[in-house]
Amino acid sequence: MIAIPSPLRLRLDSAALVANWRWLAAQSGAAACGAAIKANGYGLGARAVMEHLAKAGCRDFFVATWGEAAALMPLPAGTSLSVLHGVGADDMVAARSLPVRPVLNSVEQVVRWREAGEGRPCDVMVDTGMNRLGLRVDEALGGALDGLSIETLHSHLASADEDSAQNAQQLEAFRTVRQHVSARRYSLANSAGICLGADYAFDLTRPGIALYGGIPLPEAAGHISQVVFPEARLLQIRSVPAGEAVGYGATWTAPADSRVAVVNMGYADGYLRCHAGSGGATWNGKPLPLIGRVSMDMIAFDASTAAGLNEGDWLAIDYDLPTVSQSSGLSQYELLTGLGARFDRTWV
Ligand SMILES: *Cc1c(COP(=O)(O)O)cnc(C)c1O
Repeated sequence: MIAIPSPLRLRLDSAALVANWRWLAAQSGAAACGAAIKANGYGLGARAVMEHLAKAGCRDFFVATWGEAAALMPLPAGTSLSVLHGVGADDMVAARSLPVRPVLNSVEQVVRWREAGEGRPCDVMVDTGMNRLGLRVDEALGGALDGLSIETLHSHLASADEDSAQNAQQLEAFRTVRQHVSARRYSLANSAGICLGADYAFDLTRPGIALYGGIPLPEAAGHISQVVFPEARLLQIRSVPAGEAVGYGATWTAPADSRVAVVNMGYADGYLRCHAGSGGATWNGKPLPLIGRVSMDMIAFDASTAAGLNEGDWLAIDYDLPTVSQSSGLSQYELLTGLGARFDRTWV
């Protein structure tokens, strides 16, 4: 097969990924620091993220579904993988054949695992107030878990990225569960939870977004660096006379004779229409503002100041997660997980 380079690429900084993990591990104190790699490693590529972090010493990985787990076989030596969405009836074949633990999320799932799990270890999620997944606290305390071999008992914070009274309430509830339910380890904190302080770390933390450059709380600013750098190739540069419009709906009109750079990326690549009005790129140190609407596979930048820019050149798309989240209205999570399949993913 011939190799066809994509006109879109994600430059992925492995040193930044590892440095982010090391900072989160240090903030986790004595607790082990794992990694959430669901949704294809938040869009970066789960396998590559897993390998880079395993090499750095990360041992505990989390995906959402059994399909995601199967795609990661064989696991790097010494690592463990858990499936956060637990085991539905249809998942038991995968759950019994893969060297992966389910995170059991309901009394029904606990019963299912006891009957068909052949005594294999599992994780358990207890819901301490989010009301998404997990056994209720009264169920966990009421004997539903008695005798089960639990590797890690989890709960998940609903409002860790906000200064909310709910955090302390969930912490209290989790401490109560911990006193009454025996497990080898206990785990509560995601990225934002790690920033809430040592009380939240317990034995194992489960960061996701901050590994990939997201800033969950102001405490992380200056410690977490950008990992994902989208770049797109210039398709065409055109001269647009003053007064002419660019793109669908003619929403941008050249205020003066302009040079417009048409670039190979659009909303089908996860660069959504809400970037219009605030998006930008850089070439050779020159900032190029996004102009007009975002098309399916194309966007345009005002390149009037970028003398020497030519067809085939690569533009670095502005993608500092906290900044672009603010200006676009998309969450830092959406900015990463939306990045599409047409990007070549290249680790440096
Ligand atoms: C996704 C997820 C995480 C990671 O959360 P971030 O906010 O990305 O750090 C941790 N725990 C659970 C249960 C999750 O679903």
